[in-house]
This record gives sequence, C-alpha cells and structure tokens, in this order.
Amino acid sequence: MNRTLLVTLSLLLCTSLYSQKVSISLFNDSNLNTILVTPTEGSYKLILGNSEIRLGVDQIVYLSRVGDSILVRDANSNLGTWSRVSIVGQTEEDAIRLKPILPSIPARVYSDNISIYVEFNRLMAINMIDREKYIASVVEAESGPNKDEEFYKAQSLIARTFALAHLEKHKGEGFNLCDGTHCQAYKGKMNFDKDIYKATVATKDLVIVDTTKQFITAAFHSNCGGFTANSQDVWLTPKSYLVSVEDRYCTGARNASWEVKIPLGKWKKFLQSKGVDTTAITDIKQYDFKPKERPVYYPIANQKIPTIQIRSNFKLRSAFFSVTAVKNIIRIDGRGYGHGVGLCQEGAMQMASRGWKYDKIINYYYKKVKIVNISEVDQTRSIDIIIEKKDSTVVQTEKK
Ligand SMILES: [Zn+2]
Ligand SMILES: [Zn+2]
Repeated sequence: MNRTLLVTLSLLLCTSLYSQKVSISLFNDSNLNTILVTPTEGSYKLILGNSEIRLGVDQIVYLSRVGDSILVRDANSNLGTWSRVSIVGQTEEDAIRLKPILPSIPARVYSDNISIYVEFNRLMAINMIDREKYIASVVEAESGPNKDEEFYKAQSLIARTFALAHLEKHKGEGFNLCDGTHCQAYKGKMNFDKDIYKATVATKDLVIVDTTKQFITAAFHSNCGGFTANSQDVWLTPKSYLVSVEDRYCTGARNASWEVKIPLGKWKKFLQSKGVDTTAITDIKQYDFKPKERPVYYPIANQKIPTIQIRSNFKLRSAFFSVTAVKNIIRIDGRGYGHGVGLCQEGAMQMASRGWKYDKIINYYYKKVKIVNISEVDQTRSIDIIIEKKDSTVVQTEKK
C-alpha cells in the first residue's frame, strides 16, 4: 500500500474526542495472516474497490495476506486481490464474527464495521465501532456479568475516561486504541449484557477529571484488601486523587485474602539480594511482620524492603500482607488482589449492591475529582500515562 493512501486511511480511522466512533485494532498482539469473516446479525456490504457485495448472515469470506495485498474468497469463488477490504454494516444491530485461521485463535464477535489492510507484514483488522458499544464491551471484559447497574456505571466512566484520554495512543499506527492490556481489554461483543449497555448509555459522555479539568488516570484493581494504595507507593508519581482510603466493603469478597508459603532459604536469599545481612537475624521471629494497614515497606534487620518488590519477586497477588516464620517456612497472609491503586472493584460492587450511586462510588475511591461532560475537559494540557513495571515504575508524559 502506498504511503499517501495509508496516511489518508489513518486520518479517517483516528477519531476525535467528540466523535461517536472509535477505531480499535483487533487481535493486535497476534501476527494475523488469514481470517475468516462471517456476519452473525444484521446485514453487511463487502466493499472491494468500487464494487459492493451484499453479505448476509452466515455467509463466509476468507481473507489471506499475500505480500502487501489481501486475497479475498467467498464459499464459491475467488474475489480477487485487494489492498483494502471494508465490511460495512447496514443496520443498527450488525454483528460480525472474526475467526483468525493463521494463527489459529478463538473467534470473537464484533459490532459495527471492520476494515482490513496489510501493514507491518500482517493483516490489520480495525473495528470502527460506536464508542458506547465499545465501552460496554470493555466494561464486560473487565468486570464480568451479573453486577449491579451502579457498579457498571462507575466502571463505564473509568473505561470512557481512559479511552478518551488515550485516543492518540496509536496515532502513528493509524487507529485509536488496541484491544490488548496495553490499552484496555476488549474482546468484542462477548455476551453483550443488556444491563451493561444500559449502564453505559445512561452515563453517555460523562468522564472523570481532576481539579484542573484534565482526565484522571482512572486506575482500578480487583480487591484492595481493606486499604487502597497511594499512587506514589506503587508507581513514581503522586496523584492528588490516587490516595489511600480505608475500604470496609471488600474485605468479605472473593479476592479478600490469600496465603502463600515460601521456604525460609528462598526468603533469605531474596533478602540478601536486597542487601540484608541475614546472619544478623538470630531468632526467626525477627522475620515476623503484622501491619494493621497496607504496608509500603517490610522492615527487617534495620532495613526497609518495598513490599511491591516482594510482590513482584514472589509473584504475590498483592503487596498487602503479613509475614509469619514457622520453622523453615515463611507464611505470607495476604489481603486483596492487584496493585491497590484507585477503585477497588469488589468494594465498589458491594457499595452498589447496598444502594450507593455511581458518583458516590467514584468519589469514594478518587479524591477531589469531578464527573463532567466531555465538553468540559481541558484538552490543552499534557496527559500522564502511568505504566506499572515489575519492580519500579516508568512514567511517560505525553505532550499534546
Ligand atoms: Zn494499545
Ligand atoms: Zn477494597
């Protein structure tokens, strides 16, 4: 594909804050080479150059990369080789199944339109989708079915705030967001839970901003274990709205507690790698540690080891734990699941089931924030992107 055409396509695919459509790269982490495409609802047009072919439900189209082009075939015939294939929905309820054959990946179903072209020596499959349908799917992927509506509303605001703050994240590649954890998990329609879509539409255009009217980094995690974490204790940057709060709502939930046993020898070796002189520890009770609140450090032999480093090294579910040494075993009694910053999903679910409204939930976990219409967002300032790294933190600042 020539460069000019690619740039033109890129401009068409990248949408602005006010656009009702977003473009998402599908199976973005995979090196797609052959895909089977089948409409499952509504009706589609397959656009090849100047010709349009109607595609009904269950009709099959194969798309294979051949060099820089796409070989297109239906069940009966070869439809030629093209630089770009567009599959455009004709109703409000269109859905289409994409089944990657090479490599083989389980099929997913998507709403709205699909564009396919070759770039980076692979097929790119871009879903041009209504923004609210996309957000509802992200909420479903990140929080699962059968939750209360107010929880889904809170999670919709988080997904929308992230999406709109990062519309330019893949600008150079010609689309808005990818479908992996690099951006937000997006698995297509999944069950397309009607309650989730209702909650998303009920909060249409609402986002979360800080006191300077910029999008917040709407961090969330599964369970905080009773206390959320300060941003700067997990990452490098303090954020006025990502501060530790006590949470009594999640402590009875599924991910509230866990236990891991580590051989004492392994524990000692780790401490030595952090510069601790373990020969000075004469009584194994000196390893014990019973924090009442979320700890930032594990104190040992006059040293302080950041608990996030212990979490990372031993692949613990969280950095909130107590330590008990029993003979040759270190028992870790942990609380919560995830980094602990921002909204605690299991706490928020419990709040919603007790009748809390979404704005009260948002304001509980994010301090001094405002829920506003996107038209009120200050877009002239830079966006901070916080990336969680294994031991330390990298903070990238994107200048607009
Ligand atoms: Zn991405
Ligand atoms: Zn919690």
